[in-house]
Amino acid sequence: MPEGAGEKLLVSAQGVSRVFIQGQTELQALAPTTCSIRSGDRIAIMGSSGSGKSTLLHLFAGLDLPTSGTLQWPELGSREDLRPGKISVAFQAPSLVPFLSVSENIELPLLILGEVAAASERANAALERLGLAHLADRLPEEISGGQAQRVALARAMASEPQLLLADEPTGQLDQVTGGAATALLLDWATATGAAVVIATHDAAVARSFDRVWFMEHGRLSSGDSA
Ligand code: ADP
Ligand code: MG
Repeated sequence: MPEGAGEKLLVSAQGVSRVFIQGQTELQALAPTTCSIRSGDRIAIMGSSGSGKSTLLHLFAGLDLPTSGTLQWPELGSREDLRPGKISVAFQAPSLVPFLSVSENIELPLLILGEVAAASERANAALERLGLAHLADRLPEEISGGQAQRVALARAMASEPQLLLADEPTGQLDQVTGGAATALLLDWATATGAAVVIATHDAAVARSFDRVWFMEHGRLSSGDSA
């Protein structure tokens, strides 16, 4: 496998697995996996529904703990220090706070980061970047699912992370809108130097990424060995 784009090792996964236990049943959502993410990487993870893409992204984000193996963020620090800030996640499921406006939703992580003075301006800039400035004052229930997905992407960008993880960010978008959102995401990554990892079903979306990893039944069939 080709080496990652940058020098800085953002995420290092060594033999990382995740088993979910439900009653008497054990489900191995992620088989032991060794891979890494470096600064400037642009990786698309493809795989059918249930193959383990979201599980892997949640582990990368430090939102979940592996059942076995070692997960480290050498350039970013300990798991407690990752979010908000160094790693941003645009979730697959709806994730906007229902009683906050679109712009307030984007400001929220910035306020948690202590960026009080800049929060409003940065939220507006993120919305404008995605062509969504006209939605700033709406509540999440007043926008479409596809618009909400792009707002979640804007929110993830606004905290200027070193790694942005986007879980099927074009899942509710038509091909043209999805292609445009992907291009904006990659332009943003170029401008900021952030690494981007997405999960996607869409081969056309995956093609715009430098590297494509494949998941099948919890197995990552491609990924670097470092
Ligand atoms: P994908 O994102 O590729 O659709 P997921 O990572 O969401 O796949 O899920 C992988 C497998 O793990 C699926 O079989 C799913 O049902 C199971 N799974 C995911 N999250 C949980 C959970 N919190 N508890 C139990 N099983 C889960
Ligand atoms: Mg998923």
